[in-house]
Amino acid sequence: MKLGTSEESTEGKEIVIRVPRYNYVAQFDDIDALTDDLRTALVSGDYILGETVRSFEEELAGFLGCRYAVGVNSGTDALIIALHALGIGPGDEVVTVANTFHATALAVLRVGATLRLVDCRSDDYSMDLDQLEEIVTEKTSAIVAVHLFGRVLDIDRIVAIGSAVGARVVEDCAQAIGGITPGGSRVGTIGDVGCLSFHPSKNLAAAGDAGALVCNDASTADRARCLRNLGQVEQNRHERIGLNSKLDVLQALVLRHKIGRIDRDNQSRRQVARAYSSFLADSGIPHPLPNPHTDHVFHLYPIEVRERDRVLSALRSAEIDAVVRYPIPIHRQEAFRGRAPVGLFPCSEHQAANTLCLPIRPDLSHHEINYVLSVLADATGIPGTRKELIP
Ligand SMILES: *Cc1c(COP(=O)(O)O)cnc(C)c1O
Repeated sequence: MKLGTSEESTEGKEIVIRVPRYNYVAQFDDIDALTDDLRTALVSGDYILGETVRSFEEELAGFLGCRYAVGVNSGTDALIIALHALGIGPGDEVVTVANTFHATALAVLRVGATLRLVDCRSDDYSMDLDQLEEIVTEKTSAIVAVHLFGRVLDIDRIVAIGSAVGARVVEDCAQAIGGITPGGSRVGTIGDVGCLSFHPSKNLAAAGDAGALVCNDASTADRARCLRNLGQVEQNRHERIGLNSKLDVLQALVLRHKIGRIDRDNQSRRQVARAYSSFLADSGIPHPLPNPHTDHVFHLYPIEVRERDRVLSALRSAEIDAVVRYPIPIHRQEAFRGRAPVGLFPCSEHQAANTLCLPIRPDLSHHEINYVLSVLADATGIPGTRKELIP
């Protein structure tokens, strides 16, 4: 079985997925060099933090153009540690967006803060910054800005909205590593802390769970390092109630081998997005708009279709790995009942009910793109056959 290209059907028979969402093997420049390094690390017995993790942290900070990077277990832990390191806890109010991935809101509640939500925009599903401006008050301690789907938010405006009321800004960059802000910086480096995920599904994929947080403030970085390591400042001296959330050495090695690919891979994702978008241009199917002054990294490619579930199942029966991100908005999640604000977030509801994400990966071939588009054209009744598919 070739990785990422097949899965078990419900009858237990192996079916080939013609357009998989991931192709991890294609993401290794030199898997032999990596496996040599992994072997050396295994034999060395140097398994916790140390030189490999430190080197990756330096390379990550260098790539992003910020001073500090702290490797942790996952993007979720990065968010929890970021909020904690900024002193956010019980009694504090934190605002984020209703259509984000579960982990963003989970982190807010995990540190004991009160969750507030704003809706997303109806055109590009990104956090509605006009609503954000209206909802923040002197009681708002932090804003968690989510660069959802890889679309880069106007982070300078968010920082200005936060500063006006004394709120800190955490950037959830789990889906947007490498994106460029309107001011020309990498996402994650403008807010007080940026949080990254290297979950295998993300634009920079580890071979398991991994994450990092980045910042420019030395004491925030120190607190984060202390928190990821059980609150220790030196062996057996614990100053804080921390977590055990250190970036794994083997994952750091995988990430060191792949960090140099981010811009190249994001560029390839943009090319796929351009092919999808030019086909959909006058189809009547809403699809990602170009970002005027920022650099979208197309972690996902959501489109809005009538009879979404029927179209989704048509794609899936044609062995195209399309998905819904995310079918249940934050305020409707069972886990958050009584903890998430009751309210109406109509654009988030609409997005959850009417969009699906087409497969997008750096190595998606023209053949795969054309296949996805022709099945989509059939399922939605857009005149696909009369349109030029990409050569
Ligand atoms: C993936 C993701 C996270 C969490 O990252 P993990 O590494 O899976 O814990 C947080 N926020 C968003 C928006 C994500 O997509």
